[in-house]
Amino acid sequence: MGKNIIIAGAGHGGLTAAYHLAKSGYTVTVYERAAQESDLGYEWEDFFDARTFDEAGLPNPETGKIPKVPISFYGPNPDDPPIRQTFADGEVEMHMYRKELYAHLIRVVSEAGVKIVFGCTVYAPILIGSRIVGIQTSLGDFTGDLVIDACGVDSPLRTNLPAYLGIQKTLKKYEYLYAYRAYFNRLEGFDDVQNEYKTYFVDDGKDGLCWAVTTEKTVDLLVARFEPFGQDEIDRMFKIFKADNPHLGEELVLGGQVTKIPLRHPLAVLVADGYAAIGDSACMTVPIAGSGIANSLRAGKLLADAILSDINEEYSATTLWKYQKAFYDKIGDSMATIDMARMFLLNMKKADFEFFFGNDILSSEDLSFNTNETSAKEMFSHFSPSVIIDKLKKVGGNRSLIRRLGVVAVRIGRLKLITSRMPETYSREAVSKWAEKYERLFAETQIK
Ligand SMILES: Cc1cc2nc3c(=O)[nH]c(=O)nc-3n(C[C@H](O)[C@H](O)[C@H](O)COP(=O)(O)OP(=O)(O)OC[C@H]3O[C@@H](n4cnc5c(N)ncnc54)[C@H](O)[C@@H]3O)c2cc1C
Repeated sequence: MGKNIIIAGAGHGGLTAAYHLAKSGYTVTVYERAAQESDLGYEWEDFFDARTFDEAGLPNPETGKIPKVPISFYGPNPDDPPIRQTFADGEVEMHMYRKELYAHLIRVVSEAGVKIVFGCTVYAPILIGSRIVGIQTSLGDFTGDLVIDACGVDSPLRTNLPAYLGIQKTLKKYEYLYAYRAYFNRLEGFDDVQNEYKTYFVDDGKDGLCWAVTTEKTVDLLVARFEPFGQDEIDRMFKIFKADNPHLGEELVLGGQVTKIPLRHPLAVLVADGYAAIGDSACMTVPIAGSGIANSLRAGKLLADAILSDINEEYSATTLWKYQKAFYDKIGDSMATIDMARMFLLNMKKADFEFFFGNDILSSEDLSFNTNETSAKEMFSHFSPSVIIDKLKKVGGNRSLIRRLGVVAVRIGRLKLITSRMPETYSREAVSKWAEKYERLFAETQIK
């Protein structure tokens, strides 16, 4: 083989891998659908972990680090006070306009020698036998020694792979969200209204996520649902937001489109001969929050390390398995655990949320985790045995909740056992068997 690497789609993780590989002398070309650099990314700002660039081995941007913004969680009953996160002084996170993040990434990869072909839509993989050897695109066919799939949640590469490779092609209901995000003007005359990041549990947990973030000049709205939705639902939610945020204006300032976010455990199998999936294409978002920038960038470094250590330039499932193992060891196991918590939340009813908020069961410390956290251990580190016992005493009267919490605790134990038994080396048969067990565990939870 050689050192000719194709990155399909300018996803964040693909660009990170591209940076490291180009710096090590590989020929790296990104094929991106957007017509030009300024079309990359979205018209909004994102939060992610401040350690990300260092961990991904990328140069840090000059701006973006801000003190951590606490989120206030509002329950369905307006009489219950919100639970507000608290962070220690000095804790920081990244807050960047997505187009600025892209400008930074494109600058560093271009300086490293990566070539980017804009206006090129990838249609499908090209295979010889069971090896992926290139891509079919709107600009013709391109071949390479390895194809990195950074095409996002609906990747046409992943969805067109032969089933026998064992990589999940399509996502099921409750494994992704449709998200509407829009910035509206903040009305004048509400000087006493504080800037606040409000997350609401207005309906049953299974309905999705929503937030209203008030800043100096705008109110940033998110409505995310597991079913496609239209203007009616946006209007209904707008009224709910407006009732609680009278300073919300009607002038659309930025955004206003619906996009998809994968929200599940990472794919069971990330690699095949000549192929590796990364970022949203491999479902690497934090399953409770939908944040995927940090994990994609970190995974890009892990993928590049595996490729660089493949001194025979095989880029086979066997040599790329090192990436899969490193990803699950450092990130994936934790994401899968967090997904178990998400599935518990999905089965919560409005009454359960009211019970949690109305009975003082959750405290500010309980919810003061970083929603971009890579480690479930760090995310839930506050839950010491004494904290858990105290909570169980408070939940005591609610037998149904106790039973469901018990079920999820047992499932997390079983998950740990399964992930610890991921094959050490790649063989299609062993990996398929393992992937089946891993997926079956999640399939046991029926969302009602
Ligand atoms: C409303 C919303 C809010 C979010 N907020 C946050 C946040 O605050 N923090 C956070 O960490 N994450 C957030 N995310 C998630 C985050 O956007 C993703 O997890 C992250 O971008 C990683 O995805 P990716 O780079 O793999 O894929 P994408 O961002 O989807 O990038 C894929 C790239 O591939 C290109 N592409 C797609 N198809 C083709 C094709 N056929 N041919 C060629 N090119 C193609 C696309 O144009 C795009 O450039 C949010 C997502 C949404 C929708």
